[in-house]
Amino acid sequence: MRVAVYSNHTDDSNRVTKRINQLLEQTDIIIDDVSPDVVLSVGGDGTLLSAFHHYRNQLSHVRFVGIHTGHLGFYTDWRDFEVDQLVDSLKQDNGQRVSYPLMDVDIKYTDGSQEHFVALNESTIKKIENTMVCDIYIKGQLFERFRGDGLCISTPTGSTGYNKSIGGAVIDPSLVGLQLSEIASINNRVFRTLGSPIIVGKDQYLDLELRTEDRLIVSCDQFQAHGLDEQRAIASVRYQISMNEIYFARYRHTNFWERVDEAFIGGSK
Ligand code: NAP
Repeated sequence: MRVAVYSNHTDDSNRVTKRINQLLEQTDIIIDDVSPDVVLSVGGDGTLLSAFHHYRNQLSHVRFVGIHTGHLGFYTDWRDFEVDQLVDSLKQDNGQRVSYPLMDVDIKYTDGSQEHFVALNESTIKKIENTMVCDIYIKGQLFERFRGDGLCISTPTGSTGYNKSIGGAVIDPSLVGLQLSEIASINNRVFRTLGSPIIVGKDQYLDLELRTEDRLIVSCDQFQAHGLDEQRAIASVRYQISMNEIYFARYRHTNFWERVDEAFIGGSK
């Protein structure tokens, strides 16, 4: 087995990485950052997101394991004091895995060019100044005209990230679909939107038709595509569940709703 260690290089993560390397040296597991079977992400959920984008061209065969150097995260099942146990699990690995959906983000520009991204958490679309206006189509049919600060389209596992902060629902990751959440929509006699998040199934896709004079920014997890160039404004964006998935090595089961409780309610019971 080939294992890569992907760290956010804080002091704590460097300490954990050193310990993992020491333990792996005593096994026949090979450390290979270029073409690994398993990627050990050391840091937080944000580090796992970075690791995902770093290895996004190898998703069909790579499995991820998240080790959190702080609190338990949503992609990070293991705590820093559990690395000995984790290396024991790696030694007994038999390919066990769990998969989660990803989202394809396809941007069309006014000059005819296109860009493709894959998101693990979400994509947001916002305007640099003032409010943005866009028409939202669900599977080719106009649903509503939105005016407001922006929109967030998230995956089930991304639902606990930015989506939750703007009032989106937390979705069980066993449900496959996309959630569209508004960021401060304007609702008056001229503009009217549903005003609540919607969730569409895996066979649906969302198209956002944009005003080409708007200076927009589309984010994809931690990355951004800019439509700030007048010659190359963002014309539309399509969101759909990707054919690809992310795989996590499942050496033990962590209950999703316990994690939600611990992260957001924790200790109040
Ligand atoms: P960051 O701004 O440095 O960190 C954002 C926080 O979001 C971190 O605490 C991170 O956890 C947490 N996070 C990431 N993915 C999550 C998930 N699926 N569920 C619950 N929490 C999650 O940015 P970053 O570390 O590069 O992460 C980028 C992500 O941050 C974005 O994809 C977005 O979901 C989220 N974000 C949230 C807000 C907001 O809530 N207002 C604003 C910007 C971005 P760790 O501490 O474990 O890394």
